[in-house]
Amino acid sequence: MKYLILFLFSILSFGQQTTKVDFIKCNALVQPNFETKSVYGEIGYDFKVKSEVDSIKIDAVSMTFSEVKINGKTVNYVNNNKQLILFEGFKNGDNKLSFTYTVTPKQTIYFSGIDQGMQIWTQGQGKYTSHWLPSFDDVNEKVIFCVSVNFDKKFKAISNGTFKNANTKRNGMLNDTNYTWNFEMQKPMSSYLVMLAIGNFLHKTEKSASGIPLENYYKPVDEDKYQYTYKHSTEIFNFLEKEIGVKYPWKVYRQVPVEDFLYAGMENTSATIFAQDYVVDESGFNDRNYLNVNAHELAHQWFGDLVTAKSGKHHWLQEGFATYYALLAERKVFGDDYFYNQLYSYANRLKVAAKTDTIPVMNEKASSLSFYQKGAWALHFIKESIGENKFKKVVKNYIEKYQYKNAETDDFLAEIRKISDFDTDKFKKVWLEDYN
Ligand SMILES: [Zn+2]
Repeated sequence: MKYLILFLFSILSFGQQTTKVDFIKCNALVQPNFETKSVYGEIGYDFKVKSEVDSIKIDAVSMTFSEVKINGKTVNYVNNNKQLILFEGFKNGDNKLSFTYTVTPKQTIYFSGIDQGMQIWTQGQGKYTSHWLPSFDDVNEKVIFCVSVNFDKKFKAISNGTFKNANTKRNGMLNDTNYTWNFEMQKPMSSYLVMLAIGNFLHKTEKSASGIPLENYYKPVDEDKYQYTYKHSTEIFNFLEKEIGVKYPWKVYRQVPVEDFLYAGMENTSATIFAQDYVVDESGFNDRNYLNVNAHELAHQWFGDLVTAKSGKHHWLQEGFATYYALLAERKVFGDDYFYNQLYSYANRLKVAAKTDTIPVMNEKASSLSFYQKGAWALHFIKESIGENKFKKVVKNYIEKYQYKNAETDDFLAEIRKISDFDTDKFKKVWLEDYN
Protein backbone atom coordinates (compact mmCIF):
# COMPACT_ATOMS: atom_id res chain seq x y z
CA MET A 1 0.00 0.00 0.00
CA LYS A 2 1.17 3.52 -0.50
CA TYR A 3 -0.07 6.52 1.41
CA LEU A 4 -0.70 9.94 -0.03
CA ILE A 5 0.26 11.33 3.35
CA LEU A 6 2.35 9.84 6.11
CA PHE A 7 0.74 8.65 9.28
CA LEU A 8 1.09 5.94 11.86
CA PHE A 9 -0.78 2.72 11.79
CA SER A 10 -0.44 -0.51 13.62
CA ILE A 11 -1.36 -4.05 12.81
CA LEU A 12 -2.94 -6.26 15.40
CA SER A 13 -1.69 -9.74 16.06
CA PHE A 14 -4.04 -12.67 16.40
CA GLY A 15 -4.45 -15.97 18.15
CA GLN A 16 -3.19 -18.63 15.81
CA GLN A 17 -6.10 -20.79 14.70
CA THR A 18 -3.95 -21.77 11.71
CA THR A 19 -2.03 -24.41 13.67
CA LYS A 20 -5.20 -26.49 14.12
CA VAL A 21 -7.39 -25.62 11.17
CA ASP A 22 -6.41 -24.83 7.60
CA PHE A 23 -8.86 -23.06 5.34
CA ILE A 24 -8.00 -24.12 1.79
CA LYS A 25 -10.48 -22.58 -0.62
CA CYS A 26 -13.34 -20.10 -0.67
CA ASN A 27 -15.99 -19.85 -3.37
CA ALA A 28 -17.82 -16.60 -2.76
CA LEU A 29 -20.71 -15.13 -4.69
CA VAL A 30 -21.24 -11.54 -3.63
CA GLN A 31 -24.07 -9.24 -4.60
CA PRO A 32 -23.54 -5.63 -3.51
CA ASN A 33 -26.58 -3.36 -3.42
CA PHE A 34 -25.71 0.23 -4.26
CA GLU A 35 -29.01 1.70 -2.98
CA THR A 36 -28.87 0.10 0.46
CA LYS A 37 -25.03 -0.01 0.57
CA SER A 38 -25.28 -3.61 1.68
CA VAL A 39 -23.89 -6.95 0.53
CA TYR A 40 -25.56 -10.33 0.18
CA GLY A 41 -23.31 -13.34 -0.27
CA GLU A 42 -23.20 -17.10 -0.70
CA ILE A 43 -20.07 -18.73 0.70
CA GLY A 44 -18.46 -22.13 0.37
CA TYR A 45 -15.29 -22.90 2.35
CA ASP A 46 -13.17 -26.05 2.09
CA PHE A 47 -11.21 -26.54 5.31
CA LYS A 48 -9.05 -29.13 6.96
CA VAL A 49 -9.06 -29.90 10.68
CA LYS A 50 -5.46 -30.81 11.51
CA SER A 51 -5.79 -31.46 15.24
CA GLU A 52 -8.46 -31.58 17.96
CA VAL A 53 -10.33 -28.29 18.06
CA ASP A 54 -13.44 -27.18 20.00
CA SER A 55 -14.49 -24.28 17.85
CA ILE A 56 -13.61 -22.79 14.49
CA LYS A 57 -13.84 -19.05 13.91
CA ILE A 58 -14.32 -17.00 10.78
CA ASP A 59 -14.04 -13.23 11.09
CA ALA A 60 -17.31 -11.61 10.03
CA VAL A 61 -18.26 -8.18 11.38
CA SER A 62 -21.95 -7.40 12.04
CA MET A 63 -23.24 -10.01 9.61
CA THR A 64 -26.42 -12.07 9.61
CA PHE A 65 -26.13 -15.72 8.57
CA SER A 66 -28.51 -18.35 7.32
CA GLU A 67 -28.36 -21.87 5.92
CA VAL A 68 -25.14 -22.61 7.81
CA LYS A 69 -24.16 -26.15 6.87
CA ILE A 70 -21.09 -28.30 7.43
CA ASN A 71 -20.62 -31.32 5.19
CA GLY A 72 -24.17 -30.82 3.91
CA LYS A 73 -25.85 -30.82 7.34
CA THR A 74 -27.40 -27.81 9.04
CA VAL A 75 -25.42 -26.90 12.18
CA ASN A 76 -25.81 -24.62 15.18
CA TYR A 77 -23.41 -21.69 15.37
CA VAL A 78 -22.64 -18.59 17.41
CA ASN A 79 -22.63 -15.13 15.89
CA ASN A 80 -20.93 -12.66 18.26
CA ASN A 81 -21.01 -9.88 15.64
CA LYS A 82 -17.26 -10.17 15.17
CA GLN A 83 -17.02 -13.83 14.22
CA LEU A 84 -19.02 -16.76 13.00
CA ILE A 85 -18.14 -19.50 15.49
CA LEU A 86 -18.67 -23.15 14.55
CA PHE A 87 -18.57 -25.90 17.14
CA GLU A 88 -20.27 -28.98 15.67
CA GLY A 89 -20.54 -31.05 12.52
CA PHE A 90 -16.86 -31.05 11.51
CA LYS A 91 -14.38 -33.91 11.68
CA ASN A 92 -10.64 -34.38 11.45
CA GLY A 93 -9.49 -34.01 7.87
CA ASP A 94 -11.43 -32.42 5.01
CA ASN A 95 -14.69 -30.54 5.57
CA LYS A 96 -17.04 -28.34 3.60
CA LEU A 97 -18.81 -25.32 5.04
CA SER A 98 -21.53 -23.31 3.31
CA PHE A 99 -23.78 -20.42 4.33
CA THR A 100 -25.36 -17.21 3.12
CA TYR A 101 -24.94 -13.80 4.74
CA THR A 102 -26.05 -10.21 4.59
CA VAL A 103 -24.20 -7.18 5.88
CA THR A 104 -24.32 -3.39 5.73
CA PRO A 105 -20.59 -2.68 6.15
CA LYS A 106 -19.34 0.41 7.97
CA GLN A 107 -15.92 0.24 6.31
CA THR A 108 -13.68 -1.64 3.84
CA ILE A 109 -16.22 -1.55 0.98
CA TYR A 110 -17.09 1.90 -0.32
CA PHE A 111 -19.96 3.12 -2.48
CA SER A 112 -19.38 6.38 -4.36
CA GLY A 113 -20.73 8.53 -7.20
CA ILE A 114 -24.15 8.50 -8.86
CA ASP A 115 -25.78 7.06 -11.99
CA GLN A 116 -23.19 6.09 -14.62
CA GLY A 117 -20.44 7.49 -12.37
CA MET A 118 -21.28 5.01 -9.62
CA GLN A 119 -18.38 2.99 -8.24
CA ILE A 120 -18.00 0.33 -5.58
CA TRP A 121 -14.52 -0.64 -4.38
CA THR A 122 -12.77 -2.25 -1.44
CA GLN A 123 -9.67 -1.55 0.68
CA GLY A 124 -8.69 -4.57 2.78
CA GLN A 125 -5.32 -3.66 4.31
CA GLY A 126 -5.71 -1.83 7.60
CA LYS A 127 -9.51 -2.03 7.21
CA TYR A 128 -10.22 -5.77 7.37
CA THR A 129 -11.96 -7.65 4.59
CA SER A 130 -14.15 -9.32 7.25
CA HIS A 131 -16.39 -6.23 7.12
CA TRP A 132 -17.78 -7.28 3.72
CA LEU A 133 -16.65 -10.88 3.23
CA PRO A 134 -16.50 -13.57 5.95
CA SER A 135 -12.73 -14.20 5.98
CA PHE A 136 -9.62 -14.05 8.18
CA ASP A 137 -8.04 -11.01 9.80
CA ASP A 138 -4.97 -13.17 10.57
CA VAL A 139 -2.62 -12.70 7.59
CA ASN A 140 -1.16 -16.16 8.24
CA GLU A 141 -4.36 -17.86 7.05
CA LYS A 142 -3.93 -18.02 3.27
CA VAL A 143 -6.88 -19.16 1.18
CA ILE A 144 -7.59 -19.64 -2.54
CA PHE A 145 -10.34 -17.05 -2.97
CA CYS A 146 -12.54 -17.44 -6.04
CA VAL A 147 -14.95 -14.53 -6.12
CA SER A 148 -18.05 -14.18 -8.29
CA VAL A 149 -19.83 -10.85 -8.41
CA ASN A 150 -23.49 -10.36 -9.26
CA PHE A 151 -24.40 -6.83 -10.32
CA ASP A 152 -26.19 -4.63 -12.85
CA LYS A 153 -24.78 -5.58 -16.24
CA LYS A 154 -24.49 -1.92 -17.32
CA PHE A 155 -21.33 -1.84 -15.20
CA LYS A 156 -18.16 -3.90 -15.03
CA ALA A 157 -17.07 -5.96 -12.03
CA ILE A 158 -13.46 -6.82 -11.22
CA SER A 159 -11.99 -9.16 -8.62
CA ASN A 160 -8.80 -11.19 -8.08
CA GLY A 161 -7.42 -13.69 -10.56
CA THR A 162 -8.40 -15.05 -13.94
CA PHE A 163 -11.69 -13.87 -15.40
CA LYS A 164 -13.60 -17.01 -16.37
CA ASN A 165 -16.86 -15.69 -17.76
CA ALA A 166 -19.84 -13.43 -17.19
CA ASN A 167 -23.32 -14.80 -17.50
CA THR A 168 -26.88 -13.82 -16.78
CA LYS A 169 -27.69 -17.04 -14.96
CA ARG A 170 -27.94 -17.22 -11.21
CA ASN A 171 -29.21 -20.25 -9.31
CA GLY A 172 -30.25 -21.57 -12.70
CA MET A 173 -32.58 -18.60 -13.19
CA LEU A 174 -32.15 -16.12 -16.01
CA ASN A 175 -31.87 -12.51 -14.97
CA ASP A 176 -32.20 -9.78 -17.60
CA THR A 177 -30.60 -6.92 -15.68
CA ASN A 178 -27.65 -8.55 -13.89
CA TYR A 179 -24.48 -10.36 -14.81
CA THR A 180 -22.49 -12.71 -12.67
CA TRP A 181 -18.77 -12.18 -13.29
CA ASN A 182 -16.75 -15.24 -12.28
CA PHE A 183 -13.11 -14.96 -11.22
CA GLU A 184 -10.70 -17.71 -10.29
CA MET A 185 -7.49 -17.83 -8.25
CA GLN A 186 -5.20 -20.85 -8.38
CA LYS A 187 -3.01 -20.03 -5.36
CA PRO A 188 -3.70 -18.86 -1.81
CA MET A 189 -3.46 -15.35 -0.35
CA SER A 190 -4.20 -13.48 2.87
CA SER A 191 -7.74 -12.08 3.18
CA TYR A 192 -6.64 -8.44 3.23
CA LEU A 193 -5.67 -8.84 -0.44
CA VAL A 194 -9.14 -9.84 -1.66
CA MET A 195 -10.63 -7.06 -3.77
CA LEU A 196 -13.74 -5.97 -5.55
CA ALA A 197 -14.23 -3.02 -7.89
CA ILE A 198 -17.37 -2.18 -9.83
CA GLY A 199 -17.82 0.78 -12.12
CA ASN A 200 -18.11 2.08 -15.62
CA PHE A 201 -14.67 0.89 -16.77
CA LEU A 202 -12.98 0.18 -20.06
CA HIS A 203 -9.60 -1.48 -20.33
CA LYS A 204 -6.80 -2.15 -22.75
CA THR A 205 -4.70 -5.29 -22.49
CA GLU A 206 -0.96 -5.21 -23.01
CA LYS A 207 1.30 -8.22 -22.64
CA SER A 208 4.45 -8.64 -20.57
CA ALA A 209 7.60 -10.13 -22.11
CA SER A 210 6.78 -13.27 -20.10
CA GLY A 211 3.25 -13.45 -21.54
CA ILE A 212 1.21 -12.14 -18.59
CA PRO A 213 -1.88 -10.14 -19.70
CA LEU A 214 -1.65 -6.63 -18.24
CA GLU A 215 -5.14 -5.14 -18.06
CA ASN A 216 -5.10 -1.37 -17.63
CA TYR A 217 -8.48 0.09 -16.67
CA TYR A 218 -9.86 3.60 -17.12
CA LYS A 219 -13.17 5.43 -17.29
CA PRO A 220 -14.61 6.02 -20.79
CA VAL A 221 -14.17 9.81 -20.34
CA ASP A 222 -10.44 9.27 -19.71
CA GLU A 223 -9.65 7.65 -23.05
CA ASP A 224 -7.29 10.56 -23.86
CA LYS A 225 -5.42 10.09 -20.59
CA TYR A 226 -4.72 6.39 -21.04
CA GLN A 227 -1.34 6.86 -22.68
CA TYR A 228 0.20 9.06 -19.98
CA THR A 229 -1.47 7.30 -17.07
CA TYR A 230 0.06 3.98 -18.06
CA LYS A 231 3.24 5.37 -19.64
CA HIS A 232 6.16 2.99 -18.92
CA SER A 233 3.77 0.52 -17.23
CA THR A 234 4.66 -2.54 -19.32
CA GLU A 235 8.34 -1.56 -19.25
CA ILE A 236 8.20 -1.45 -15.43
CA PHE A 237 6.54 -4.85 -15.32
CA ASN A 238 9.20 -6.41 -17.53
CA PHE A 239 11.96 -4.72 -15.55
CA LEU A 240 10.72 -5.83 -12.12
CA GLU A 241 10.09 -9.40 -13.18
CA LYS A 242 13.70 -9.59 -14.36
CA GLU A 243 15.18 -7.61 -11.46
CA ILE A 244 13.42 -9.68 -8.78
CA GLY A 245 14.40 -12.83 -10.64
CA VAL A 246 11.20 -14.75 -9.86
CA LYS A 247 8.41 -15.02 -12.42
CA TYR A 248 5.34 -12.88 -11.68
CA PRO A 249 3.33 -15.25 -9.44
CA TRP A 250 -0.24 -14.68 -10.70
CA LYS A 251 -1.90 -15.28 -14.07
CA VAL A 252 -3.03 -11.72 -14.79
CA TYR A 253 -2.26 -8.19 -13.58
CA ARG A 254 -4.96 -5.53 -13.45
CA GLN A 255 -4.71 -1.87 -12.47
CA VAL A 256 -7.92 -0.03 -11.69
CA PRO A 257 -8.22 3.69 -10.85
CA VAL A 258 -11.13 4.56 -8.54
CA GLU A 259 -12.65 7.79 -7.25
CA ASP A 260 -12.15 8.93 -3.64
CA PHE A 261 -9.57 6.23 -2.93
CA LEU A 262 -8.17 6.32 0.60
CA TYR A 263 -4.51 5.88 -0.39
CA ALA A 264 -2.29 6.25 -3.45
CA GLY A 265 -2.54 2.57 -4.35
CA MET A 266 -3.25 -0.87 -2.92
CA GLU A 267 -1.65 -4.10 -4.09
CA ASN A 268 -4.62 -6.50 -4.01
CA THR A 269 -3.42 -9.82 -5.42
CA SER A 270 -3.30 -9.57 -9.23
CA ALA A 271 -5.55 -6.47 -9.11
CA THR A 272 -4.12 -3.18 -7.87
CA ILE A 273 -6.47 -0.31 -7.12
CA PHE A 274 -5.08 3.22 -7.37
CA ALA A 275 -6.29 6.79 -6.92
CA GLN A 276 -8.08 8.47 -9.84
CA ASP A 277 -5.77 11.48 -9.17
CA TYR A 278 -3.06 9.59 -11.08
CA VAL A 279 -5.13 9.43 -14.26
CA VAL A 280 -3.37 12.21 -16.15
CA ASP A 281 -2.70 13.71 -19.56
CA GLU A 282 0.70 14.87 -20.82
CA SER A 283 0.90 18.05 -18.71
CA GLY A 284 -0.45 16.24 -15.65
CA PHE A 285 2.21 13.55 -16.08
CA ASN A 286 4.96 16.00 -15.22
CA ASP A 287 3.17 17.19 -12.08
CA ARG A 288 1.98 13.91 -10.66
CA ASN A 289 2.42 10.60 -12.44
CA TYR A 290 1.50 7.08 -11.45
CA LEU A 291 4.93 5.62 -12.16
CA ASN A 292 6.26 5.28 -8.60
CA VAL A 293 2.96 4.01 -7.19
CA ASN A 294 2.61 1.66 -10.17
CA ALA A 295 6.04 0.10 -9.51
CA HIS A 296 5.49 0.06 -5.73
CA GLU A 297 2.19 -1.85 -5.89
CA LEU A 298 3.57 -4.19 -8.54
CA ALA A 299 6.61 -5.03 -6.36
CA HIS A 300 4.15 -5.94 -3.57
CA GLN A 301 2.78 -8.72 -5.79
CA TRP A 302 5.96 -10.56 -4.72
CA PHE A 303 6.77 -8.77 -1.44
CA GLY A 304 3.51 -8.87 0.49
CA ASP A 305 1.14 -10.87 -1.68
CA LEU A 306 3.33 -13.89 -2.50
CA VAL A 307 5.48 -13.72 0.66
CA THR A 308 3.50 -12.07 3.45
CA ALA A 309 5.03 -10.73 6.67
CA LYS A 310 3.94 -12.81 9.68
CA SER A 311 3.01 -9.75 11.71
CA GLY A 312 3.20 -5.95 11.83
CA LYS A 313 6.65 -6.14 13.41
CA HIS A 314 7.99 -7.39 10.07
CA HIS A 315 6.01 -4.95 7.92
CA TRP A 316 9.24 -3.57 6.43
CA LEU A 317 9.59 -6.88 4.55
CA GLN A 318 6.67 -5.58 2.48
CA GLU A 319 7.02 -1.80 2.45
CA GLY A 320 10.83 -1.57 2.49
CA PHE A 321 11.05 -3.97 -0.46
CA ALA A 322 8.21 -2.30 -2.40
CA THR A 323 9.80 1.13 -1.86
CA TYR A 324 13.25 -0.07 -2.91
CA TYR A 325 12.12 -1.94 -6.01
CA ALA A 326 9.94 1.01 -7.06
CA LEU A 327 13.05 3.16 -6.85
CA LEU A 328 14.98 0.65 -8.96
CA ALA A 329 12.19 0.77 -11.56
CA GLU A 330 12.34 4.58 -11.54
CA ARG A 331 16.11 4.36 -12.02
CA LYS A 332 15.44 2.32 -15.16
CA VAL A 333 13.13 5.05 -16.50
CA PHE A 334 14.67 8.28 -15.14
CA GLY A 335 18.34 7.31 -14.75
CA ASP A 336 21.02 7.13 -12.05
CA ASP A 337 20.92 10.79 -10.99
CA TYR A 338 17.24 10.50 -10.12
CA PHE A 339 17.91 7.30 -8.16
CA TYR A 340 20.71 8.77 -6.03
CA ASN A 341 18.82 12.02 -5.50
CA GLN A 342 15.88 10.05 -4.15
CA LEU A 343 18.08 7.96 -1.84
CA TYR A 344 19.69 11.18 -0.60
CA SER A 345 16.29 12.75 0.01
CA TYR A 346 15.10 9.65 1.93
CA ALA A 347 18.23 9.91 4.10
CA ASN A 348 17.55 13.59 4.82
CA ARG A 349 13.95 12.93 5.78
CA LEU A 350 15.05 10.10 8.06
CA LYS A 351 17.65 12.35 9.68
CA VAL A 352 15.03 15.02 10.43
CA ALA A 353 12.54 12.44 11.70
CA ALA A 354 15.17 10.87 13.97
CA LYS A 355 15.06 14.01 16.13
CA THR A 356 11.57 13.11 17.33
CA ASP A 357 10.92 9.53 16.21
CA THR A 358 12.40 6.87 18.49
CA ILE A 359 10.55 3.78 17.22
CA PRO A 360 12.79 1.38 15.24
CA VAL A 361 11.86 -0.34 11.96
CA MET A 362 11.13 -3.68 13.61
CA ASN A 363 8.18 -2.47 15.61
CA GLU A 364 4.57 -2.63 14.51
CA LYS A 365 4.15 1.00 15.57
CA ALA A 366 7.02 2.28 13.43
CA SER A 367 6.29 5.31 11.26
CA SER A 368 5.64 4.76 7.58
CA LEU A 369 8.91 6.64 6.93
CA SER A 370 10.70 3.85 8.84
CA PHE A 371 8.83 0.95 7.20
CA TYR A 372 9.14 2.43 3.71
CA GLN A 373 12.18 4.65 3.31
CA LYS A 374 14.42 3.27 6.03
CA GLY A 375 13.45 -0.24 4.94
CA ALA A 376 14.50 0.65 1.40
CA TRP A 377 17.80 2.07 2.62
CA ALA A 378 18.45 -1.06 4.69
CA LEU A 379 18.10 -3.15 1.52
CA HIS A 380 20.33 -0.80 -0.43
CA PHE A 381 22.95 -1.14 2.31
CA ILE A 382 22.84 -4.95 2.11
CA LYS A 383 23.12 -4.83 -1.67
CA GLU A 384 26.11 -2.47 -1.54
CA SER A 385 27.75 -4.70 1.08
CA ILE A 386 27.37 -8.13 -0.53
CA GLY A 387 27.22 -7.06 -4.18
CA GLU A 388 24.39 -7.11 -6.70
CA ASN A 389 24.72 -10.76 -7.78
CA LYS A 390 24.58 -12.15 -4.26
CA PHE A 391 21.78 -9.77 -3.33
CA LYS A 392 19.69 -11.03 -6.25
CA LYS A 393 20.38 -14.61 -5.27
CA VAL A 394 19.32 -13.94 -1.67
CA VAL A 395 16.06 -12.32 -2.79
CA LYS A 396 15.29 -15.15 -5.22
CA ASN A 397 16.00 -17.84 -2.61
CA TYR A 398 13.94 -15.98 0.00
CA ILE A 399 10.92 -15.65 -2.28
CA GLU A 400 11.07 -19.22 -3.52
CA LYS A 401 11.35 -20.59 0.00
CA TYR A 402 8.42 -18.60 1.43
CA GLN A 403 6.15 -18.21 -1.59
CA TYR A 404 2.42 -18.51 -0.81
CA LYS A 405 3.44 -18.49 2.86
CA ASN A 406 4.48 -16.02 5.55
CA ALA A 407 7.93 -14.91 6.62
CA GLU A 408 9.66 -12.82 9.27
CA THR A 409 12.83 -10.74 9.30
CA ASP A 410 15.08 -13.57 10.52
CA ASP A 411 13.96 -15.74 7.59
CA PHE A 412 15.29 -13.13 5.17
CA LEU A 413 18.50 -12.59 7.15
CA ALA A 414 19.13 -16.36 7.22
CA GLU A 415 19.15 -16.39 3.41
CA ILE A 416 21.85 -13.68 3.43
CA ARG A 417 24.05 -15.72 5.79
CA LYS A 418 23.74 -18.79 3.57
CA ILE A 419 25.69 -17.21 0.74
CA SER A 420 27.77 -14.45 2.36
CA ASP A 421 29.68 -13.58 5.52
CA PHE A 422 27.64 -10.39 5.97
CA ASP A 423 27.16 -9.68 9.69
CA THR A 424 23.36 -9.93 9.90
CA ASP A 425 23.30 -9.56 13.71
CA LYS A 426 25.03 -6.21 13.54
CA PHE A 427 22.86 -5.18 10.58
CA LYS A 428 19.68 -6.11 12.43
CA LYS A 429 20.71 -4.17 15.50
CA VAL A 430 21.86 -1.03 13.70
CA TRP A 431 19.26 -0.81 10.93
CA LEU A 432 16.17 -2.49 12.32
CA GLU A 433 16.26 -2.48 16.13
CA ASP A 434 17.93 0.83 17.00
CA TYR A 435 16.71 4.21 15.98
CA ASN A 436 19.49 6.42 14.71
ZN1 LIG B 1 3.19 -0.45 -0.02
